[in-house]
Amino acid sequence: MTSPSYIGRFAPSPTGPLHFGSLVCAVGSYLDAVAHGGTWLIRMEDLDPPREMPGAAERILHSLDTHELHSQRPIEWQSRRHHLYQNALEQLREKGLVYPCGCTREQIRRSGGHRRATCRQYTPGSDALTALRFCCEGEEERFDDLWHGAQIQHTVEDPILKRKDGLYAYQLAVVVDDIAQGVTCVVRGADLLDCTGVQRRLFRALGAEPPGFGHMPLVMNESGQKLSKQNQAAALDDARPAENLLQALRFLGFHPPAELILEQPRHILAWAAARWQRRQIDPRNRLLHQ
Ligand code: GLU
Repeated sequence: MTSPSYIGRFAPSPTGPLHFGSLVCAVGSYLDAVAHGGTWLIRMEDLDPPREMPGAAERILHSLDTHELHSQRPIEWQSRRHHLYQNALEQLREKGLVYPCGCTREQIRRSGGHRRATCRQYTPGSDALTALRFCCEGEEERFDDLWHGAQIQHTVEDPILKRKDGLYAYQLAVVVDDIAQGVTCVVRGADLLDCTGVQRRLFRALGAEPPGFGHMPLVMNESGQKLSKQNQAAALDDARPAENLLQALRFLGFHPPAELILEQPRHILAWAAARWQRRQIDPRNRLLHQ
């Protein structure tokens, strides 16, 4: 079951240190890539300075390193790739697929969805005060998710690709980078399932075939919320990489033998890669982390 052309990736945003939920995603995407004879990349999505925590990017990379989850290509940083996002916007602009829009969320909501026509009256020259939106409202996107099966997604609002404050949006950067890095399979958390339809449209608008997508079940805390940096999920304890990895493997449906805890992280990962089966993951699981 090897595919030398498989390229997978883990793409954390440095809004806080790595927590257990993000470790599960990192390990899942790593195992899927390695088990398919593929290449696994780390990309730092440091695109939104106001939301970032100083030092978080370095902490995340240190944690990944401690767990021996090494990128097989040089790590790319989105903060150094703005020229690529700008080029992509130019391409979309030439195709008539982006337009400036100064509407607030509230205005869009009150108009019952976005009305492109409203913004077509925009006067050129005031770009600094407007966001750039991608035309895809009302369109339907069908695809198969590796775990969630057949999906039909409708875009209810044209997504923003460049914000009013001049920052490039996640939706644009993630697609531009996945294209540039030749990513063939995106394995990530189920919280991103809903934006996959829009991302697939962007791939095609930029002249690329969308990769495969697989969304893994989320790890929840005791109050039923997704473990996330926003709800202060505890940082991973880098002093116990073997314990963390074994726990992540159990969440991913493995039954690792107890003695594996004595092994180096790379041996634990190799043990799991040799046994990884996509069907061991049940997408309906809401995994609880104490
Ligand atoms: N950077 C995003 C996050 O940390 C993930 C992007 C992706 O995997 O597509 O939530």
